[in-house]
Amino acid sequence: MDKTEDKKDGHSEGAKEQVVLSEDQRASVTSLIKDIFAQNSLGSFAAPEYAAKFENLLHMLISENEKYNLTAITEPADIILRHFADSLTCSGYIPSGAVTADVGCGAGFPCLPLCIVRSDICMTAIDSTGKKLAFVKAAADALDVKLSIHEGRAEQASELRERFDCVCARAVAPLPALCELCLPLVRVGGRFIAMKGASASDELRAAANAIKILGARVSSFDEFTLSDAGKRGIIVAEKISNTPAKYPRMWAKIKKDPL
Ligand code: SAH
Repeated sequence: MDKTEDKKDGHSEGAKEQVVLSEDQRASVTSLIKDIFAQNSLGSFAAPEYAAKFENLLHMLISENEKYNLTAITEPADIILRHFADSLTCSGYIPSGAVTADVGCGAGFPCLPLCIVRSDICMTAIDSTGKKLAFVKAAADALDVKLSIHEGRAEQASELRERFDCVCARAVAPLPALCELCLPLVRVGGRFIAMKGASASDELRAAANAIKILGARVSSFDEFTLSDAGKRGIIVAEKISNTPAKYPRMWAKIKKDPL
């Protein structure tokens, strides 16, 4: 969805600094959050206790992005729509109290917005890029939300195999490959939530075989429009049997020869 290239010379210094905003800046961000969430049937997530955290996250992202390129999306209204609101569309698919992982979380999407509004879930953010994860952890601490991190490639995280009630992912890989990264981490009876764009139905067709081989079945597929950002599709695959031990394969194999 977005390009998240790192500046070669950049260093993460975490998100510890408090961003001081004028009253006017705060008021305009608050009203953007209210409007954009309301336009997308997410109005309840703009309640004051959440809105204050979204404002802080917005300013941490913007100030950290000035140091190194965490996300290609940099305008406040775009961040609120394409990162915050989009991430929150996943919330309704996560069961109460679920032990959840976000595979390839990048700068913290969907995991950080989900943690803000879902204090009931226990979130692990997984990414192969340490400096993005350092930002995610520092932001979670500054926002006072519960989140742990796992640095490394999802397909190599054997210690996390079949440990999660729920695994979600956005903008990481085409669905057949993504299933091989994510489904091995889901416990039997748990679910994988794939957040996709306009290509969702084509990707779902292409992934039918992978979903079956990896021990899952599709339990729902919802398509909707995210106000000005275009079509979205959320696919939920329920794990019905253990993933065969030979999966996941190494990334080069997954990519070259997707299931
Ligand atoms: N989910 C975020 C970031 C998308 S960019 C968002 O929607 O904004 C893709 C991210 O996935 C990058 O941060 C990259 O480091 C990570 N990634 C790609 N393949 C991965 C893998 N096999 N295991 C763990 N992280 C991976």
